[in-house]
Amino acid sequence: MSYCVNCGVKLNHNVSSCPLCGVEIINPADPIDQTAEKIFPQSRDVHKDSFDKSLWIKMVTTVLGLPMLLSITINTIFGNGLNWSLYVTGTLGIIWVWLVSPFLFKRSFMARSVVIDAVFLLGFLYLIEYLSHSQGWFFSLAFPIIGTFTILLLIIVILIKRKILKELHIVASIFLGIGIFCVILNGIINFHALRMLKLDWSLLVLIPFTAFALIAALLQQRRWIVEELKHWFHV
Ligand SMILES: [Zn+2]
Repeated sequence: MSYCVNCGVKLNHNVSSCPLCGVEIINPADPIDQTAEKIFPQSRDVHKDSFDKSLWIKMVTTVLGLPMLLSITINTIFGNGLNWSLYVTGTLGIIWVWLVSPFLFKRSFMARSVVIDAVFLLGFLYLIEYLSHSQGWFFSLAFPIIGTFTILLLIIVILIKRKILKELHIVASIFLGIGIFCVILNGIINFHALRMLKLDWSLLVLIPFTAFALIAALLQQRRWIVEELKHWFHV
């Protein structure tokens, strides 16, 4: 048994330098035994991604696929052709797309799954309009509302991904996005209902949300205020 001449730590037989201070160990009375078991691991274990994507997809497919098949079977046997089961299948299908789409891509999965989710949601709503014979709301309401929401979300996601938006600028852009979305939503609904471009309630949302966005952007510029607040609230 040797002790480090520099720091005094007890040394194992198989080390050629002190693991604590790095001083070279030369002890003719106790030569290095290369075969002795190392006291600390020689390689770092790479932590693998514990989430099994293919298992998740299989699980979601089974859990949602069974009631889909069941409802289609019951509807075919006891009904006059497929009708109500298409709503059930459509709903379960859209849930399947939402749950699975983020795991289908390795790169820029957020942006792609936003687009896929929106396309399938639009398809589902179109199916509802078609099946329920309640024409007149898909193209004038559902399509522009979901389209606007998707475009705004996509812009924010891409700007975050490209690291153009960071920290509190992300919060600011979300506030601003909500404000803009409400204005467009208000316009679309009023145009659908009254056939005229008119804004009312959305301005009550836009003004405070723009103010929140400005505060967040200002705080990002003055990081010391955030640090001071964190200090006060012990975060
Ligand atoms: Zn030492």
